Amino acid sequence: MRFDGDYTMTIGGQGVAGASSFDVLNPANEQVIGQAPDASREQLDEAVAAARKAFPAWAATPIAKRKELLLAMAGAIAAKGEDLKRLLTSEQGKPHGDAFGDVMGGAYWLQATASLDLPVTVVEDTAERRGETRHVPIGVVGAIAPWNFPVILAMFKLAPALLAGNTVVLKPSPFTPLTTLKIGEILRDVLPPGVLNIVTGGDALGPWMTSHPGIDKVSFTGSTQTGRKVMESAASTLKRVTLELGGNDAAIVMPDVDVAAVAEQLFWAAFRNTGQICIATKRMYVHKDIYEPLKEALVAYAATVKMGDGAEQGTQMGPIQNRLQYARVLDLIADAKAKGYKFLVGGETSTAPGYFVPVTIIDNPPEDSRIVQEEQFGPVLPLLKFDDLDEVIGRANASDYGLGGSVWSADEDKALEIASRLATGTVWINESQHLSPLAAFGGHKQSGVGVEGALEGLLEYTNTQTVFVKKKAAQPVA
Ligand code: NAD
Repeated sequence: MRFDGDYTMTIGGQGVAGASSFDVLNPANEQVIGQAPDASREQLDEAVAAARKAFPAWAATPIAKRKELLLAMAGAIAAKGEDLKRLLTSEQGKPHGDAFGDVMGGAYWLQATASLDLPVTVVEDTAERRGETRHVPIGVVGAIAPWNFPVILAMFKLAPALLAGNTVVLKPSPFTPLTTLKIGEILRDVLPPGVLNIVTGGDALGPWMTSHPGIDKVSFTGSTQTGRKVMESAASTLKRVTLELGGNDAAIVMPDVDVAAVAEQLFWAAFRNTGQICIATKRMYVHKDIYEPLKEALVAYAATVKMGDGAEQGTQMGPIQNRLQYARVLDLIADAKAKGYKFLVGGETSTAPGYFVPVTIIDNPPEDSRIVQEEQFGPVLPLLKFDDLDEVIGRANASDYGLGGSVWSADEDKALEIASRLATGTVWINESQHLSPLAAFGGHKQSGVGVEGALEGLLEYTNTQTVFVKKKAAQPVA
């Protein structure tokens, strides 16, 4: 295995160069770190054809064998964890420790998913007939991943799709294609040819996939705006879709918390991965009785955090991953400045190379401000004051997003009651962002369609098939 800057797609078990190529940058210094293949439409056709060819044998492979291969995939990825970590940091920007977490989390996801089984339900068992419903694979899955967690979010899709007996064409984001291409290279020795194909390319490749007649299901993680386009495009061939989309998660911090104890956790709920997490806290509602001390604790903690190149020892926060997102975050900061909102920390911009935005906390901006209403997906947090519980639950729910949310309180029963009133797919109490391969994860409202994880997520990669068997008439006893 080389990690030498030679990046090829995986099509039908072979390494394939692109029809052309495009540059991949390190967001910490904007230097080119490699070229990724730019797939032509014909190359996508080849990848889909390879997946279709591999499908019957893979679907007929006993599930016990497919589980073995998922575990082998996990082992092969974990064995290269250190090399993949360094490559991921160089293209994504996140600190080495977080990059290692992304890679090893991906391996863990494969391993844990292998513990699931496809249930068979007996729906009728009478003198006349027996009927059972089982779950069969759909066919070829087109998996489309974003740039914030390139490895684990791809594995959220690969693990259940392959376990259920589908074959896959995976497309990483053009901003972070390299680690995924290397994983494809590693897995060529593990999976039969054509079971997993990896293609990279520019803006046209995603729409080619979502409209491709040879792809039966699209599993997409990305923004809500793109998710709408994916659903529209998939409609022409009635593809199944799973959409994991954007969020604007609210944290509700009750007056009974121990401010000193929760400040650090609340900080990372908002700023981990430089705020580029779908389930990051993007609005922090703090009860008025503790607003001042918590504000001070957050600002004091922010001053201790080291931002920089993720490859440097001690870095806790990296840059924004790409220029487009950097411009979006700067635009939100410019808007907040123009409106005269008060910055508790941050807000400065720099012309030095690298897409760095300092930790920025805005003091109680109006509820209808852009920084409260829009998904910032960067290190800029609006800190908001509340007094009345019903009112703050209303504010938390007044969003088209419904991905996650958190409640922070010493009173667990009260927190559970608040959680039950939040219109989101996941709610955390006194923590944030914990995900499990054995828990369904998905968005309410415009944060998504369907779920990933657990049996519910696995079943999204299947069609149901009910088989009725008419029993022979019982012979009268002589
Ligand atoms: P994005 O929507 O710009 O891109 C996601 C992927 O879709 C990329 O691979 C991109 O190349 C591809 N794509 C772009 N246009 C397409 C089209 N028309 N058809 C098909 N594919 C297309 O998202 P992003 O900027 O990479 O990621 C950030 C967003 O993802 C944020 O909104 C974040 O909240 C969301 N996200 C959601 C989850 C979740 O699980 N709900 C997880 C991570 C990120």
